This record gives sequence, structure tokens and C-alpha cells, in this order.
Amino acid sequence: MSAYPYADRFPVNRTLPKEGRDPGEIIDELRTLATEEDTSWEDGKVSGTMYCGDHDHYEFLNEAFALFAHVNALQRDICPSATRFEGEIIAMTLDLFHADAVTDGTPVGIVTSGGTASIAHAILAYREAGRARGITNPNIVKAETAHPAFGKAAHLFGLEQRNVAIDPVSTKADMAAVRAQIDENTVAIIGSACNYGYGTIDPIGEMSELAVERGVGLHVDGCLGGFILPFGQELGYPFEVFDYRLPGVTSMSSDTHKYGYGLKGSSVVTFRDTALRRGQYFYETEWTGGKYCSPSMDGSRSGGLLAATWASMVKLGRDGYLKYAKEIFETADKMIAAVRSHPELRIMGDPTFLFSFTSDEFDIYHVNDFMKLRGWRFNGQQYPNAIHMAVTRPQTQEGVAEAFEKDLAEAVVYATENSDGTPDSAAIYGGIPGGMTSDVDEFIRDIMANMMDEQQGVPPAS
Ligand SMILES: *Cc1c(COP(=O)(O)O)cnc(C)c1O
Repeated sequence: MSAYPYADRFPVNRTLPKEGRDPGEIIDELRTLATEEDTSWEDGKVSGTMYCGDHDHYEFLNEAFALFAHVNALQRDICPSATRFEGEIIAMTLDLFHADAVTDGTPVGIVTSGGTASIAHAILAYREAGRARGITNPNIVKAETAHPAFGKAAHLFGLEQRNVAIDPVSTKADMAAVRAQIDENTVAIIGSACNYGYGTIDPIGEMSELAVERGVGLHVDGCLGGFILPFGQELGYPFEVFDYRLPGVTSMSSDTHKYGYGLKGSSVVTFRDTALRRGQYFYETEWTGGKYCSPSMDGSRSGGLLAATWASMVKLGRDGYLKYAKEIFETADKMIAAVRSHPELRIMGDPTFLFSFTSDEFDIYHVNDFMKLRGWRFNGQQYPNAIHMAVTRPQTQEGVAEAFEKDLAEAVVYATENSDGTPDSAAIYGGIPGGMTSDVDEFIRDIMANMMDEQQGVPPAS
């Protein structure tokens, strides 16, 4: 598929149009794009990405968004509503993570623009807390399965990231390896609940003990699982405790734009104590433009996202989240059982609402090749090659788990018959062919540049 399918259908703008276009026509054009693109996931065959999938919920969020979309949440004197929304989003999130159990600090948070930003703020907070204790060469220690956003934060803020191996069977952080990597410059260790690759939860209880013993921070990445795993626990799934009930947990990230069912562009980072949050603020008191402060990396930001995130949370309530979680976990259980019914396939570790599988008999990408023809879109993994499915609400529709079971059975036959060949699909996270060793840096830079290609693949007529 071309990255620029619209270049032949619509004019490519290389300059501002001289005369403005008719608003109705613009909206029609946008509606055409959006409606066509929505069909790619509405049948429930796409892993992750669309967490709610109900157009009526999206419409409701958009209505809430529209009321405050134009408002700059930085100017609280003219939008005190933003303080209400932000404060309540943080309070509801802290409550979900049992911050009431904290007796050694004052739990607080920040609403950010996404999981990456939440993680960045946590890492910045640990760097600053480390600096205050005289650490000038800080490092963080994480299992290799923790999200690349930690590497990005380490890169941005000048920390060393120490990746440790996982246990290949459980796919959880190898605690002996974590322990061995901690030294006097370690400001925090990282655990995932759950990780993006396998949907498994690190030994957060043991990490908490280790963090307390060694006097380092423990960030729990609940970007993906934060708004669904607590409801899984409530439903009786035996997921280990990963929140502020554990004495060593000092911060958490959780994405309202994933299983919080909010609009894209919102996430919450919470801290066990206000001192961590306070340490990472930026402000400038001597600027000629006035005294400037903004609590997060963003300057101006839309009040609409705060309103929509808040609206999503209070519309669903505990019962709504619980109901959605039940449907998602039951669907995941069915799909996992379908995978387990094939001895040729192997589930990675002990998954939750997201599962990953590989094969010891054939390259699992043969299965992916076949499933792709049936309209499925999984995420590809490497070391070992595996494919994963994050179950979201679109999969809970009638018949989707059954279609998965049926298509998978045929895919296993196909993979067995074709095991000598090379599969077409390869390890991807955003479109990078696996097995690529030379020029991989160049290739990845090109992918990113292509996302912003002003030529849309069509050279301008000269
Ligand atoms: C999505 C995700 C992130 C990063 O969040 P973004 O919202 O994509 O920036 C971090 N950790 C995990 C486990 C995730 O699933």
C-alpha cells in the first residue's frame, strides 16, 4: 500500500491556497478520509490502537472536546474549569491505584500528552531527585521489555539506560539481573504492568522490595494496563499487585488515551510524593514577558483534551470500566485458548488482555502472512519472532473471537505447509522489516522522513 494514497485523488497543497476553500467542501473531504480509514479497524481485526471503538462514545468525547478545544489550559484565570478537570483526572487515577494506602507521602500527578510524556516526566523527576542527592551520572535499570519511551527519556535527559534480560519463559524481568545492575548512580528501576510486547506483568512486588532495600525509585509503567488491570483484579484475575499499595512504588504512568477510552493525546503520571513532582517543574521568573511557569513539558495546551478525558472517566464510572474490562478479558481468554489449542504455537509467558505467540516448528510470520489475507493486523515482534494481539473493544463484537479461532486454524495449516519458504511479513513495530542488519539506521530515518513528506511521493511539476 502506498503511504500517499490521496495524492492522486485530492490536490496536494504545497502552498497555502490563494483563496480559502468552502468549509462544507473541506468537511466533506475530511469525512471521506475518516470514514474510509475507520473501516480498516471496525471489523475488530486490528490489534490495539482503537481502544473503545464505539462511535457514539467518540461523538460524546468530541462534544466535550469542542466546548474547550480553543481554550489554552495554561491560562487558568480564564479557565478555572481546567483545574477542575485536571485535578479530578489525577484524583480518580490515584484512587484507582490505591494511593489512599500511602502513609509516607502526599500522592500527586500531572496530566500529560501521552505515555511517552508521562514516562519522560517521571524520568526527569528521578534525575532531579538524584541530582539533589549529588548524583551527576544517573542511570535507570529496566527489563528490555519496558517501552522504548524510557530510552527516549534517557536520551533526552542524559541518563544512562541499563537494559536487563528477561526470563525467556515467563517474559518477566530477571530480578537477579536487575539487582546486579543497580549501583550508587541508579535513580530508579522500571517495571511494566503490563509490558507492550507480551502483555505480562513484571514481578513488581519483588521490585518494590528491592527498591526499598537499595533506596532507589520504582516507576511502574501502566501506560497500557493502568486503566484495565485494576478491573481485571476486581474480576478475580490473579494479576499481581503493582500499585501504591506496594511501599517501593514511587511513580506510575497510565494512559487515559488507551484503556481510559479518552481521545488521543492524554495520559497521567502520578507520584507517591509531591517532592518528586515538584523537583521537575520548570519556571522562569526573570523573563521580560512576565513570570513564566508551566507544570509539564507542554506550554499552551488544549483545554479540550482535559475536558474530554475527564468526561470519558465520569461517563463510564467504575461500573462502565468494569463492564468493558469483563468483555475484553473474556474475549482475550477465548483467543488465548484458540492459540493454546495448537501444539505448534506457544504463548509467551502468562498474558493478560494482550497476548503474544510464537512457534518452535515454523516461522510465526507465515501465520501472520495468512492472517493478513483474512484482514487481521497484528503487531510483529523479534527475538524471538512473535506476533501479538492487544484485545480492545472492537474484538468484543459478536463473532470476532470465533473468526480468529477459525482463521488461525487455517493459518497453522498454511504455515506448516509453507515452513520451508520465507514469510513475507517480518518483525515490525511501525513498519521495519526484520532480519535487516546493514542500513537499518538509514531505513528507519527514511520511514520517519516519509511520514512528513511534503511531496506526498509526487514530485512537483517544474
Ligand atoms: C503505549 C505505551 C507507552 C507509550 O505511550 P504513548 O502514548 O505511545 O506515548 C509506554 N508504555 C507502554 C507499556 C505502552 O503500551
